[in-house]
Amino acid sequence: MTQYQFQQGPIRPPSEADSLLIRTTQGCPWNKCKFCTLFEGMEFAIRPVEEIKKDIWAAKAFYKNRKFETCFLQDGDSFTMDTEDLLDVLNTLKQAFPELKQISSYGRAQSMTKKSPEEMKAICDAGLNMLYCGMESGSIDVLKLMKKGITPKSILKSTEFAKQAGMKMMTFIILGLGGKEYSAQHVEETAALLNQINPDEIRILSLAVKPGTELDELVQNGEFTPLSEREMLEEQYQLISKLNSVTGNYGNYQGINLLMELNGQLPEDKAKFLATIDRFNMMSENDQNNFILGRRIHYYAALKDMDNQLMYDSVQRELNRIQKQNADELDNVFYQLRQRMI
Ligand code: SF4
Repeated sequence: MTQYQFQQGPIRPPSEADSLLIRTTQGCPWNKCKFCTLFEGMEFAIRPVEEIKKDIWAAKAFYKNRKFETCFLQDGDSFTMDTEDLLDVLNTLKQAFPELKQISSYGRAQSMTKKSPEEMKAICDAGLNMLYCGMESGSIDVLKLMKKGITPKSILKSTEFAKQAGMKMMTFIILGLGGKEYSAQHVEETAALLNQINPDEIRILSLAVKPGTELDELVQNGEFTPLSEREMLEEQYQLISKLNSVTGNYGNYQGINLLMELNGQLPEDKAKFLATIDRFNMMSENDQNNFILGRRIHYYAALKDMDNQLMYDSVQRELNRIQKQNADELDNVFYQLRQRMI
């Protein structure tokens, strides 16, 4: 190993693109969710604290005078570390990078609720002041179906712990995660839980079923019916409509989402979000298909891009070609195109 090598994990949240990445754990301590392949084949491990500290100083030497204000602790769950070890890592980080203002990590409800409120407070005071929570759904049925290994109760408890400790929180929700079978519960109970938690930020993702996953098997067996693009948008409309006590940021930042312009602040932008979805709903069926295809083949970033006649015509030619070959299968084509994006 040369002087400047340090470990990097395979993932980080998109919002941490400019952050210092330090790996405290390897893989996911659960690794059983039916839709997830993030850490496929990787055994979970908590890295020895001395190794992590060595990495911090190696990163310091590697980046020389670069100043970082944010740091993300990889991989799946830093809260599985002994509190004393985590505090040791956080203190070392602050020594090496004194300009850090935010240190963040994924945290599973199970590991956070094993910490006492005093431990959570000490962790936050030592610098880990931002939590990424992969809640995905507030519905017990959907969480069970997806084998998430968490319940709405444990999610609520862990997020209360984090908030009381002073941590900021970003919560991820996956549209379509209940399929057609549980769509109503998914929306209703997710909105209810989000209203209770009131996270600082909500990030929306749209389900794309990865081939080879347990979820894909359910789809093949007819036990899970994926939502179409329009149905996922309807879920989002209902979700936004039902968010009545959320006063945080709401965002569709991932390319897998259809309407990337649904970003802003709740409750101020709620009417604007709903009006944007209404705008899509009021378009002709052909224009809706044109837009969906244009998003999935990377022509459009937002609805307004359809005003570009050249772009519109190019997408329309491709749409006509697909419809000629698969007249009744357009939703299936969109489904497959979305699969290619993950
Ligand atoms: S907890 Fe997160 S990382 Fe782990 S398997 Fe589930 S979705 Fe994947």
